[in-house]
Amino acid sequence: MMDERLMNGTYLSEDSAVEQTLRPHTLRDYVGQKAVKDSLGIYIQAALSRHDALDHMLLYGPPGLGKTTLACIVAAEMGQNIRVTSGPAIERPGDLASILSNLNAGDVLFIDEIHRLSRQVEEVLYPAMEDYAIDIMIGKGPTARSIRVDLPKFTLVGATTRAGQLSAPLRDRFGMLFRLEMYSPEELCQIVERSAGILGVDADPDGLLEIARRSRGTPRIANRMLKRVRDFAEVRAGGHISREVAREALALLDVDELGLDKVDRNMLGTMMDKFSGGPVGLDTLAATTGEDAVTIEDVYEPYLMQLGFLMRTPRGRICTPAAWAHMKKSMPAAAEEQIRMEI
Ligand code: ADP
Repeated sequence: MMDERLMNGTYLSEDSAVEQTLRPHTLRDYVGQKAVKDSLGIYIQAALSRHDALDHMLLYGPPGLGKTTLACIVAAEMGQNIRVTSGPAIERPGDLASILSNLNAGDVLFIDEIHRLSRQVEEVLYPAMEDYAIDIMIGKGPTARSIRVDLPKFTLVGATTRAGQLSAPLRDRFGMLFRLEMYSPEELCQIVERSAGILGVDADPDGLLEIARRSRGTPRIANRMLKRVRDFAEVRAGGHISREVAREALALLDVDELGLDKVDRNMLGTMMDKFSGGPVGLDTLAATTGEDAVTIEDVYEPYLMQLGFLMRTPRGRICTPAAWAHMKKSMPAAAEEQIRMEI
């Protein structure tokens, strides 16, 4: 099945048209991720001066941190087209073979959620990445034979939320591995300031900082919150986002001062009330909170760990004293003992 997101040239995501307009198009406009940007800038310059394609690269980190955006920027900076698809959309080896054989020299192929490629599809990628070739089977049964078809030199950009789930042979074929970090409130503030400018939103710096602080280190959430707060401000405050207006709007959305929502608080609350703060295994946590284990690991935990609210131990997750304090619950002596044992 062909993915409808598979595009030649311009990238169309399933994101709303608004989010599309908020995407930065150059490395300069891409906020934060300094280490990644510095190395990428050098590699891009080197590849351009050699008139060569860029090495394959793997981007990993939680959703919404800018992996797709960065892939599009890489293509733009190289002056090449990008084709966008995702692991689950490439069902059969033939689907990937057809995508690959339609690439032009220098194209960037972006595969989101690359850890979800099936084994058979992955095997098509190995020679494609290494030798720029694919092996195609002709005929069936005893007379079947495989022929090698050359591909133009392209750049594969893979994105994943879980680098650990990638098979070793696939991971080893990437020349560059970049881990995207969560953004600081100041960086997120820069992002929403830019977005407010593009969307023509009237906001105080304090109002924007309030949004940035509660965005869980994630640009996608920051932009989404900006839009929600703008709607609130239009109805309640004549369209102006002040700090107070941002606070009111976010309280209405059930987002607390640190950006925790109902799911985070339910998770921490369950760990504290039912398991004295842990250790709790991931599956138990999933079963008792009704959340999907993968979602907990990919979406909720990274931010809670970043805040220093959760510790991962071999025996399960443990709530830290900071988490107890934030939830305004007093920490039982047994829980303190658990923490001491882990440190
Ligand atoms: P991912 O592919 O990692 O899930 P995206 O690249 O789709 O994330 O980013 C989500 C949104 O966040 C984009 O629409 C973009 O506007 C914004 N964004 C992400 N990273 C940055 C950044 N470094 N600077 C500015 N905006 C960003």
